[in-house]
Amino acid sequence: MRVLVTGGAGFIGSHYVRTMLDGGYPGYESAGVTVLDALTYAGDRANLPAAHPRLRFVRGNVCDLPLLLSLLPGHDAVVHFAAESHVDRSLGDAAAFFRSNVVGTQTVLEAALVSGVGRVVHVSTDEVYGSIDQGSWTEDRPLAPNSPYSASKAGSDLAARSYWRTHGLDVRITRCSNNYGPYQHVEKMIPLFTTRLLAGLTVPLYGDGSHVREWLHVDDHCRAVQLVLDGGRAGEIYNIGSGNARTNRELAELLARLCGADASLIRRVADRKGHDRRYALDDGKIRRELGYAPRVPFERGLADTVAWYRRHTERWPHRVPVRAALD
Ligand code: NAD
Repeated sequence: MRVLVTGGAGFIGSHYVRTMLDGGYPGYESAGVTVLDALTYAGDRANLPAAHPRLRFVRGNVCDLPLLLSLLPGHDAVVHFAAESHVDRSLGDAAAFFRSNVVGTQTVLEAALVSGVGRVVHVSTDEVYGSIDQGSWTEDRPLAPNSPYSASKAGSDLAARSYWRTHGLDVRITRCSNNYGPYQHVEKMIPLFTTRLLAGLTVPLYGDGSHVREWLHVDDHCRAVQLVLDGGRAGEIYNIGSGNARTNRELAELLARLCGADASLIRRVADRKGHDRRYALDDGKIRRELGYAPRVPFERGLADTVAWYRRHTERWPHRVPVRAALD
């Protein structure tokens, strides 16, 4: 068994690869893993073991069809994580998002088809559904993305669907809620707030802070992706949720407590353009069909994540007062 993982040097992809190399996925204890990653600002080779007998690392772009065609023969599956992933950046540089997320995904699908790879898991997001005031989304909800990021991910989902419907490529789509955990880039809310609060710095809360997100530990997300790879059905979409919804203000206040910081460091700033108010997934399908259930309790997972960033001061984006780093 050999699996090609795109974006495997990023936050979620690297967690998936480390877990697979550690033997964390039953049946894949001896699987070989090829990571294809462009190492954009968001990717870090150091997120993966420097050397491992079952790991091959290739620096390259998912838009590079000849490269993919040269790599894919001999692989049984592709797990496609690579994407531009930060909504705020997509407001300023949408082109990079449509290149990597839409063209990149289509290129991965084309290469998998031509190379006869048996299975592709396309990792997508709940953000493709848009915003929902009440209730939750099932997989058959129409796509209504609002940001260039979510629009590019919706485009990639449609590309995946088209390769299944037209060519019969075995591709499965996952749509997950917000992830948290170690190794996340410090531009994202939880690492940004954590590292700044630990350093005694203010943190920016968008708008009135009442935007609602559903938070899932990265380990639960990756286990769900593996369940879909192993037991999912071709052409199907699987929502991956947690049921653990928080407003951004609640999350910021919880982080302040965990960091031992004063809540007055939380400062309201102008809202993000087009900011979705609320995301909520109905993930009954993956629970029923594949036995998925999140395992990491939010409070414990968040406390562990804060502790990880407290230890890893090399990840902090700003100058760190020594006392804060040693606390
Ligand atoms: P990330 O930004 O941390 O990592 C993305 C990785 O992809 C990086 O290593 C980067 O170098 C690589 N990459 C980007 N463009 C590339 C290209 N053109 N060619 C090759 N490699 C490229 O992102 P993440 O948070 O780990 O997200 C991984 C996937 O999961 C994405 O598809 C994202 O849409 C999806 N997702 C993320 C979340 C979340 O909360 N972070 C939630 C649901 C779904």
